[in-house]
Amino acid sequence: MNQDSTKISLTNRSKVVSNKKMTLLERFYLPAVLKGMSITLSHFFKREVTIQYPEVKRPFSDIYRGMHVLKLDDEGRERCTACGLCALSCPAEAITMIAAERKEDEKDLYREEKYASKYEINMLRCIFCGDCESACPKEAIFLTNRIVPSQYKRIDFIYGKDVLVEKKDARVDVSKRQTPEVLTFKQDKSKSHNK
Ligand code: SF4
Ligand code: SF4
Repeated sequence: MNQDSTKISLTNRSKVVSNKKMTLLERFYLPAVLKGMSITLSHFFKREVTIQYPEVKRPFSDIYRGMHVLKLDDEGRERCTACGLCALSCPAEAITMIAAERKEDEKDLYREEKYASKYEINMLRCIFCGDCESACPKEAIFLTNRIVPSQYKRIDFIYGKDVLVEKKDARVDVSKRQTPEVLTFKQDKSKSHNK
């Protein structure tokens, strides 16, 4: 084996490491310094990629996967029926809920006979994969293009229904996350899904 090089085995590949002596010029580090400076200078003439957040905000895609929303139906009733499919599909085990039975006088609050009396998402666990949104059979949970704000305490990242359920007078538009076929289907009030 050549004394100037050492062969190191990395899995089934190999990499040759050179130990050859540096020339006088190289020992001054001048070529390396000039090369580094030329790279730095070349960036002066390139398009600026840094965004001055928070003064400037980057526009998000309509299907960006940010903070969740629990949707109400057209009549303002909670769509979630506490089936648990979102929690089951969540790879981060971020969702917990408690199911309850709807009372006779709660029909204008909850769309289905069963609803989530408690629904929580731990935003520190969530990886914003969107699996909960895909799993939901009631179109009750969607991710949105809203950012989860920073907090000082871990407990403040556990979002309950007070944060997640959309407000009647401040609906969150998720139509851009749905395909035209789904939106057309939703117009058909003869389907039990849309009643
Ligand atoms: S986005 Fe993914 S990780 Fe976050 S709550 Fe939904 S399923 Fe869980
Ligand atoms: S959000 Fe959807 S999937 Fe999750 S419990 Fe409610 S109805 Fe079921």
